[in-house]
Amino acid sequence: MAAPVIRVEDVTRVYRSGDVEVRALDGVTVTIERGEFVAIMGSSGSGKSTLMAILGCLDRPSSGQYFFDGIDVAGLDEPALARIRGRRLGFVFQSFNLLARTSALENVALPLFYDSTAGTARTDKARASLALLGLEGRERNTPGQLSGGQQQRVAIARALINSPSLLLADEPTGNLDTRTSHGIMETLVSLNRDKGVTIVVVTHEADIAAYADRTITMRDGRIVSDRRADHPKPDAAEVPRREPNAVNGPGAFWAFALMVMAAAAQAIGRNRMRSALTMLGVFIGVAALIVMVAVGQGANEMVRKQIESLGTNLLVVLPGATTSGGIRAGFGSASTITVGDAQAILREDAAVASVSYLIRQAGQTQYGNQNWATSIQGVSPNYPPITNWQIAEGRAIVAEDDAKAALVVLLGQTVRRQLFGDAEKPIGALVQVKGVSLRVIGLLASKGQTAFGTDQDDVVMMPFSTAERKVLGVAAPNQQQTPIGWVYTLPPNPYGLQSRLTGYVNQMFIQAVSSDAVKPAMKQVTDTLTRRHRLKPGDIPDFGVHNLSQIAEAAEGSSRIMALLLAAVASISLVVGGIGIMNILLVSVTERTREIGLRMAIGARRLHVLLQFLAEAVFISVAGGIAGIVTGVAASVAISLIFGWPAPVSFAAIAGGFLFSAAVGIFFGYYPARKAARLDPIEALRYE
Ligand code: ADP
Ligand code: MG
Repeated sequence: MAAPVIRVEDVTRVYRSGDVEVRALDGVTVTIERGEFVAIMGSSGSGKSTLMAILGCLDRPSSGQYFFDGIDVAGLDEPALARIRGRRLGFVFQSFNLLARTSALENVALPLFYDSTAGTARTDKARASLALLGLEGRERNTPGQLSGGQQQRVAIARALINSPSLLLADEPTGNLDTRTSHGIMETLVSLNRDKGVTIVVVTHEADIAAYADRTITMRDGRIVSDRRADHPKPDAAEVPRREPNAVNGPGAFWAFALMVMAAAAQAIGRNRMRSALTMLGVFIGVAALIVMVAVGQGANEMVRKQIESLGTNLLVVLPGATTSGGIRAGFGSASTITVGDAQAILREDAAVASVSYLIRQAGQTQYGNQNWATSIQGVSPNYPPITNWQIAEGRAIVAEDDAKAALVVLLGQTVRRQLFGDAEKPIGALVQVKGVSLRVIGLLASKGQTAFGTDQDDVVMMPFSTAERKVLGVAAPNQQQTPIGWVYTLPPNPYGLQSRLTGYVNQMFIQAVSSDAVKPAMKQVTDTLTRRHRLKPGDIPDFGVHNLSQIAEAAEGSSRIMALLLAAVASISLVVGGIGIMNILLVSVTERTREIGLRMAIGARRLHVLLQFLAEAVFISVAGGIAGIVTGVAASVAISLIFGWPAPVSFAAIAGGFLFSAAVGIFFGYYPARKAARLDPIEALRYE
């Protein structure tokens, strides 16, 4: 003789709220055999639902024992209970508890998700179960498109999908009209007679209870009567015990993963607008991160290239103070270095290979009726080659030009464009530079912008002596520029010492004999200048000697700090996005409390629920992340195309953006997901 389906022994269930104790069940003992059809009656509050929750393994008794199919339920852990709920029990609720906006077929197939049934088998079973309840052709309809009776039939089809040995129905007809109620009861009767399903129905209507073979009446948590109907019960067909699906191995893992992802995708799909808005934070964060990293790397690369193009063995000597600290104001004259200094350095310092210098002033150029303000530079003949200026057309300035103070000039590409346009050939033309007529002998090749946005091509160059003696008559501007475009602003000279320009230079570029000789060259140049300027120990020097790799390091360092700052801002956006995800997920958990309860009632483990919500969070954040990566890459490409600024998108930035967004999803999704997984199934089902 098989064990009874249900054996309850002296079960009590006590609810405590504060000091008040409610004994919802007070010593219930009952046995229900396989194949029985039992109705539980009793007034409201008599403990019927409490008993059903315990029979359904959704709740545990405060004391007493419950054997389901001969197994002591108290000894089972949470996954085992979930398995019993999913495979051996079917629930039908007064309020149907169907997933809204989800087809009848999917609703019915829901319990199969949790026992890893494969896709086609799932659909076939769901179809068959619906057909059994007379719902062929309604597979695609959502609950909103079905009548109450049809919805309850869908719920019964769902309860039956795993061929359970016990069907529990808590007031299944409570929300239905009389005619529909009788239809549902007849369905249950035929399930009991033809399929041998053991059925327990709660009702408080006598005519509904009349369908059952046995009626148990409860009052105040106790069973007060237990009567068998006089109509003889036909022999129940032996229910074929359904063997549980084998759920192990990698197949089960993938089915499980697929189920979790499908549930998450479905939830997102039902709230498209909300999910899209939630993605925005992560989207903006990742896009910004990628653009920032690309632009930052581009800036670094540009600085490095410019400096490398000048050569690593180059020194720059600037006159005056190179810092604009208040203490030095008025001290540094902008013109403290002379051509004599340059000659002495070349003559005396062994580590120096060559010395070039320039004098510079802003001024007007003119050709025909076009005029243009630019940077006018008088340069030593070796200045253009040392600083990597190429001649695009015509010829360079030679020593003879400098010796004769020849009235010749080289035009930068910007000046050429402004004065001559694109059509006219400038070579050989006479242009006015500060009112002096100079013949154009050549064009400088374009150098483009510096990393800091200065147009290097906005320049004209002439021999140093020409500039000094014939063109630049007035004070030099008190700005100094390094070859990479940094501008040092020098304090103004109150004594007008610059007004006579005899031999003073604005800047010297010195080549060391090799890159290894840079350090000794710096020392020698410093010593020579200190001696020539008669500086005593302790005096503040009136010149500065820099090497380009120092300047490069400083520039790279500052752009790295900039990039870090921007990345920090982008990360903040990611965090804000994560908080948004957490927020929406918390709302979602609250909204779907009943759904969570239902999923648990039909076999979902806590782990399933946790993973479902976690997957939802990760889906949202990763979708935002991927959109951000695409946008960030597109924006980087657009920036480099529009501004001619290199913005290399690195694989590391893309991978980082992806991982970052996934991490945000997991981190911020965990709390809401855990909250969902910890819900008590019976309380979740009762949640309004
Ligand atoms: P029925 O389904 O027969 O109408 P219930 O089993 O739902 O009755 O409730 C039995 C008793 O237990 C009632 O007095 C009810 O107020 C109480 N009760 C049910 N659930 C809770 C709960 N979660 N907390 C406190 N009391 C509860
Ligand atoms: Mg009830």
